[in-house]
Amino acid sequence: MSYAYRPAPARPLGLRLHLNENTAGCSPAVLEALRSLGQHDAAFYPDYAPAIDATARRFGVRSDYFILTNGLDDGIFCCAVTAFRAGGPELESIVVTPAFEMYAACADAAGGRVIEVPAGERLAFPAEAILRAINDRTRIIWLTTPNNPSGEEIPRDTILRLARGAPQALLFVDEAYADFTDATLLDAAILDAHPNLIVGRTFAKAYGLAAIRAGAIFGSPATLEPLRRTVQPYTLNVCAAVAIPAAIADTAHYDWYRAQVRESKSLLYEFLDRRRLEYWQSSANFVLARVPEPKRVVRQLADRGIYVRDRSADTGCGDCIRMTAGVVDDTRALLQALEDIL
Ligand SMILES: *Cc1c(COP(=O)(O)O)cnc(C)c1O
Repeated sequence: MSYAYRPAPARPLGLRLHLNENTAGCSPAVLEALRSLGQHDAAFYPDYAPAIDATARRFGVRSDYFILTNGLDDGIFCCAVTAFRAGGPELESIVVTPAFEMYAACADAAGGRVIEVPAGERLAFPAEAILRAINDRTRIIWLTTPNNPSGEEIPRDTILRLARGAPQALLFVDEAYADFTDATLLDAAILDAHPNLIVGRTFAKAYGLAAIRAGAIFGSPATLEPLRRTVQPYTLNVCAAVAIPAAIADTAHYDWYRAQVRESKSLLYEFLDRRRLEYWQSSANFVLARVPEPKRVVRQLADRGIYVRDRSADTGCGDCIRMTAGVVDDTRALLQALEDIL
C-alpha cells in the first residue's frame, strides 16, 4: 500500500471550502511586511529573532520550548525522521484512521511501519485500541485535537494517559485547529512533565498563511534536542520570517476570523438540524455531515463553483462531506446552494 500524499486536484477559481483554509485571507499587515522586504532581505539568510520572539509571547513559552518549521508538515516530517533515525527493524508508528494523510506519508518516508487504528463508533477516539496497539517497537503515535475530520476534541487526560503508556515513543499531538477552541496542551509544566510529548501548531489555518508555510513544534527543551539536529537551520524562508510576527500582532484580524468561524458553525448546525441530517459538533473550522448522495452533492456544488470535501470513502465516514466553516458570507452562499441541491 502506498502512503504517498496526493495533493487535492487543482481547482478553478471559486469558493474553496474543501481544505479548511482561511478564505478571508491573511492579515493585511502580513502583506505590508512582505512589501517592505528589500533586495538584501532576499540576498541574506533570514533573521528569525522577531518570529521567535513573537511566537514565544503568543504561546506563553520560552524559545527553547519550540522550533519554527516550514509549515507544520515540515515539523511532522522531522518528528518522523527523529523517531526512526535510531533504526532497527520493523519500528512502528500508530495512526488513528481516518487521519490527516501526512502522518502515514512521513512515517513511511522515514522508514517506519504504519499501524492503523480505526476510530470507533461515530468516529469516537479509540484510546483503548491505541493502548493495545502500543508495543516495544512503537516509536511515534499521531493524534489530532481538535480532530480532522470530526472536529471533536480528545480529552487532555486521555492524551496524557497515552503519553505515559508509551514512554519509548514520541506522542505527537497535532493542534492545527486549536486556534478555534480554548483547549491546548501548550504549557511548559505539561511539556516538562511529559518528556515524550510534542505539540504541533500551524499558522496556516486561523492566521491564513498556508501558502507562506509557517508552523512550529513544541516540547520540553530536552525533548526537542534531538529534533534540533533534524530540522534544517534555514527551513523557513524570509517571507515566513516576517509574516509570523505581523500575523501574530494583528489580533483584531485573528479574533474577527475566529468569530466568523463560530457564527458559520451555528448557521451550518441550524441548517443540518432543520434538515435532520447527522453531523459532528466541531471545535475546529469545519463541519462533517452525512448527506444523501454525497457524490452528487459534491459534484453539483462544484458545478456552482463551491468546493467541499468528499470524505464518504473514509472509514466510518459513509455519506460524509466536510465543509469549511469560515467567512459567514461564504457559509451563506454554501447553504443557499445546498438548499437548492438537497
Ligand atoms: C492543515 C494541517 C496541517 C498542515 O499545516 P501546514 O502548516 O500547512 O503544513 C497539519 N495537520 C493538520 C491536522 C492539518 O489540518
